[in-house]
Amino acid sequence: MTAPKLVQGYEVVIGFETHAQLSTKSKIFSRASVAFGAEPNTQACAVDMALPGTLPVMNIGAVERAIEFGLGVNAHIAERSIFARKNYFYPDLPKGYQISQFEIPVVQGGEVSFFLEVGKETVHKTVRLERAHLEEDAGKSLHEDFIGQSGIDLNRAGTPLLEIVTQPDMRSSDEAVAYAKELHKIVTWIGICDGNMQEGSFRCDANVSVRKPGAALGTRREIKNLNSFKFMQQAIDYEVRWQIDQIEDGHAIEQATVLFDPDTGETRAMRTKEDAADYRYFPDPDLPPLVIGRDWVERVKSEMAELPRVMAERFVNDYALPEYDATQLTQSKAAAAYFEATAKACGQPKLASNWIMGEVSRRMNAGDVNFETLPVSAAQLGALIARITDNTISNSAARQVFDGLWNQEGEVDAIIDAKGLKQINDTGALEAIIDEVLAANPKNVEEFKAGNTKALNGLVGPIMKASKGKANPAQVNELLMKKLG
Ligand code: ADP
Ligand code: MG
Repeated sequence: MTAPKLVQGYEVVIGFETHAQLSTKSKIFSRASVAFGAEPNTQACAVDMALPGTLPVMNIGAVERAIEFGLGVNAHIAERSIFARKNYFYPDLPKGYQISQFEIPVVQGGEVSFFLEVGKETVHKTVRLERAHLEEDAGKSLHEDFIGQSGIDLNRAGTPLLEIVTQPDMRSSDEAVAYAKELHKIVTWIGICDGNMQEGSFRCDANVSVRKPGAALGTRREIKNLNSFKFMQQAIDYEVRWQIDQIEDGHAIEQATVLFDPDTGETRAMRTKEDAADYRYFPDPDLPPLVIGRDWVERVKSEMAELPRVMAERFVNDYALPEYDATQLTQSKAAAAYFEATAKACGQPKLASNWIMGEVSRRMNAGDVNFETLPVSAAQLGALIARITDNTISNSAARQVFDGLWNQEGEVDAIIDAKGLKQINDTGALEAIIDEVLAANPKNVEEFKAGNTKALNGLVGPIMKASKGKANPAQVNELLMKKLG
């Protein structure tokens, strides 16, 4: 492991709490719908409104998703976990408590690992998870400034959440963002969360502290509800600088909950942090312990799709791809499927990978296109790569063919013909061009023969130009060397 990079002599320590909204149709303890965007309070039933006499009933789909997550991160699935009441007052919480898990969560331990770029190096990082527990979301206060009133919308009350808590293992905002992206990939890949950050389906709280290397953990401040990767990075960077400034000015950091304001780029204290003791947690008498038999876990395991890290390993073993490529290509199921289909179509996995991570990604980023809407099919890309390997076209010509495919101009061979991109492999034709260029550039020939190898460039360039870029570069080189002795 490389030593962590220090900021002004301080080590940064970050731990994450992430709320992933589970992709069930109904709420965690009631049958009301969780669909986003409905009229206020049209999706809140008696249980969600906390009417007296109502009782929560566990949604089995939420439990199943928690099991899937646990299996996806190599965690222990508790055979028996407990729901607890977390007591606090807030207008959007009519029960006066949130049902969550405290002492015994359903998912225990586990880890998330990923690659990240540090300077020119690719570093492998593993973040240990502490736990993931099931809980319900609260409602929402709506402040209607134009009528000077606030209202409560309980549609979100009872929405199933999985709160995923890490150990304080991250050492920079870059690591934190890479972790959050990897976690986002895992939950969307498994399909337990739609990952929509704008709608709040995946929101992160970043706990940040700084310390001198080797010192005990510093006091943390928790940045709440980060709902974009960009803001996450900005918020943590600002917070780290702020804490260091405070300490350097002789102030102690006070534990607090803070909010990031994207308009000012600053974090601001919301409230001083309450401790677990303030919530008076106790087991919810309305819900029995959550019991998960091993047979249930086994069934879920057998029905789960191949996980991204397992798939990446397979890409390394079966296609001889570097680990970095394999990781990049398993960023989404669609990317992985596109790669596998392309590799099969051309029989050249590494070239397929290079093209997808290079030209294809570039065009996708520039055009706001994703793997689902990509205009070039895997079969077409495969056919294009096959034409490079059988020497029909050069790499630079291939990029022109790719443009043609992107613009829906036809199939690979038709585009090669239409654009006249066939590589000249015919020795006689190449020699004729070379002789012409040599005769026209006697000075370069002299210089090369006198030992100036750079003079060769002055010959290859005009040859490629005379062939309209269609000469086979390897062959040109070989013939040229022969002619120049
Ligand atoms: P809560 O915030 O609900 O009280 P915890 O005390 O378990 O919960 O911690 C929440 C998160 O804060 C965890 O992700 C943990 O890794 C992280 N954390 C704990 N101590 C520190 C610290 N000194 N600096 C940075 N992160 C920390
Ligand atoms: Mg917290």
